[in-house]
Amino acid sequence: MISAIVDTHCHLDLLQEKGLEISQALFNAKQHGIKQIIQIGIDESSSLHALEIAERFSDEIQIYFTIGCHPCHQVQDSEIEKIICLTENLRSHPKFVGIGEIGLDYYHLQEKKRQEDVFRKFIELSIQLGVPIVVHSRDAAEDTYQILSQYKNQVFGTIHCFAYNLEYAKKFIDLGFYISFSGILTFRNAKEIQEAASKIPLQNILVETDAPYLAPMPHRGKRNEPSYTSYVMKHLFHLRSEPKQKVEEQVFQNSQNFIHKKRVLC
Ligand SMILES: [Zn+2]
Repeated sequence: MISAIVDTHCHLDLLQEKGLEISQALFNAKQHGIKQIIQIGIDESSSLHALEIAERFSDEIQIYFTIGCHPCHQVQDSEIEKIICLTENLRSHPKFVGIGEIGLDYYHLQEKKRQEDVFRKFIELSIQLGVPIVVHSRDAAEDTYQILSQYKNQVFGTIHCFAYNLEYAKKFIDLGFYISFSGILTFRNAKEIQEAASKIPLQNILVETDAPYLAPMPHRGKRNEPSYTSYVMKHLFHLRSEPKQKVEEQVFQNSQNFIHKKRVLC
């Protein structure tokens, strides 16, 4: 039994829409050693909901939240302004972790310019406020890297649900980012991601579910939930050369550093 895991990226609101009550998801998570959860915002209303969830359910498990604008959300300028305003107002909230998810998704959306503009707007906001970002990047490794590298030594945060190779993992680490592994890490065909997880410095690793999506083996294809972070952790133990306890303690410590907005060491 692993005793101290943090699910650094999940969507309890979307999980509830898929039929699992938040209180039940938290009960299950607690049984599997999950100590903290970061609830992620994807637009204005879900960010407000994330705040509400963090305030309302933290008796069970400590819940933190982010405010974000997902690249697949086709956002209007007026909503961007509202999200910026919300972030500024909640910047000092004890449960507020950072800005995200934000980023680029060329798998779902081919239109690149608007995604880039919105991404840059929120990167610049994060720099202005001194808070980390949670990056969603799908089929867009090089553009994500190019944009982030233009803000090197200013921007920091995590590459959530990392799905690229070792070379990109190292490049993002060099920019001051954590690499967060999801259930994909347990998939048999995820060789490049597994290689990255086995070779990058332990101090740069976070784990997550991205629930309700991307359930790890042996639940692949089913509804995901925060308790399944334990499967991601177990797979990480299997991939790393360090003793299990060392991996567990360091990944937990990394999560604390991230939650408390400390820049990652590179
Ligand atoms: Zn997500």
